[in-house]
Amino acid sequence: MKYYAPKGLSDVLPEEMPYWHAVGDEVRSVMSSYNYSEIRTPMMEKTEVFARGVGENTDVVSKEMYTFDDKGGRSMTLRPENTASAVRAYLEHKFYGKEELSKWYYLGPMFRYEAPQKGRSRQFHQYGAEAIGSNDPALDAELITLAIDILTSLGLEDVGLKLNSIGCPSDREDYVDDLVDYLEPRKEGLCSDCQARLTTNPLRILDCKNERCQEIVKDGPVITDYLCTDCQEHFDGVKSYLNELEIDYVLEPNLVRGLDYYTKTVFEVFSEDLGAQDALVGGGRYDELVELFGGDPTPAVGFAGGIERLVLLLEELERVSGSEGGLDLYIATIDDESKQAAMKLGRELRKVGLATEMDYLEKSLQGQLGYADRYDARYTAILGPREIENDELTLRDMESGDQVKVSLDNYVEEIVEKLIG
Ligand SMILES: [Zn+2]
Ligand SMILES: [Zn+2]
Repeated sequence: MKYYAPKGLSDVLPEEMPYWHAVGDEVRSVMSSYNYSEIRTPMMEKTEVFARGVGENTDVVSKEMYTFDDKGGRSMTLRPENTASAVRAYLEHKFYGKEELSKWYYLGPMFRYEAPQKGRSRQFHQYGAEAIGSNDPALDAELITLAIDILTSLGLEDVGLKLNSIGCPSDREDYVDDLVDYLEPRKEGLCSDCQARLTTNPLRILDCKNERCQEIVKDGPVITDYLCTDCQEHFDGVKSYLNELEIDYVLEPNLVRGLDYYTKTVFEVFSEDLGAQDALVGGGRYDELVELFGGDPTPAVGFAGGIERLVLLLEELERVSGSEGGLDLYIATIDDESKQAAMKLGRELRKVGLATEMDYLEKSLQGQLGYADRYDARYTAILGPREIENDELTLRDMESGDQVKVSLDNYVEEIVEKLIG
């Protein structure tokens, strides 16, 4: 073996694809039903798009970005998430002048230089939605429902919601002051990362996974006590819509999410289908981001979900069948002449939508029937000198073993009749 995929990057193999396709199909179909349209942004952007958009002091920007200089000496970064790119595109294409509310979704690879572990790859895939142009708490509730509906449409049953509001920047400033005052005398108890965060990004201490940090934070001030009237009313609005929709939620005052751009609503959707609480989707409102990118103040809300984790979960739950497609017809051939006829026949049948395969390995008839079985073909068409001579083919039902002769004059109709009925 000479070559391996780079560390932390993984192949998605054909046998895993049915799960990936199921996720993609449900994302597209549920997003469309909520009137979200797909947007595709480039896989890389100028580094400052993420540095500004996501925030210099976030883990994503300070530790996890794939950044390099291109041949023109410009600093480029493989996208670590899609929201900053979406906002860049929103402004670049002047959507603010075209529509009052832009509702977009995306699906694709993202890149973060993280320690590789199960369900976490350096190239990973996300789907997500962004709604840019409204401050309506009903829109926050819509995004949350949308995120939940995608998961339940994939067959997950125990889907839960964690909800919080982190207010506007001025609420947060007051809160962070008090949080730092509370943590400063307890600094020695914090993990080394959090000791550093105390000066760079104190909010991040709230969702540190370290148990000692959690213990300390638990008795500290909570952000929801600092919400101004506007933010409080907005949060109450989101909750009342969720109540109306009968969506249960757990209030998590220490849920802040890792990125700087969030304001007001933040949420996580998780699954308990396998016992543990796996966060599958994270999102929130980002009312300041468009302005930060040079646009007029424009409220927005969005979420992103990780596909690898979701696929792992669906695989373990066996919620989506492990095989898809399958062959309609295998065309077994015996000599060069029948092989030429088979090439033509296969092409005709594919045109009417039948999945067709034939032999490229000079296998015996027996070997070819074995292949047809392996591909789960419903029928095998046998084409040899005798068949060509009689202007017909032998059609074998692979399950029953029954064989019938079909005239080569109208084989397409007859085969279609058999297979589609
Ligand atoms: Zn506020
Ligand atoms: Zn910590």
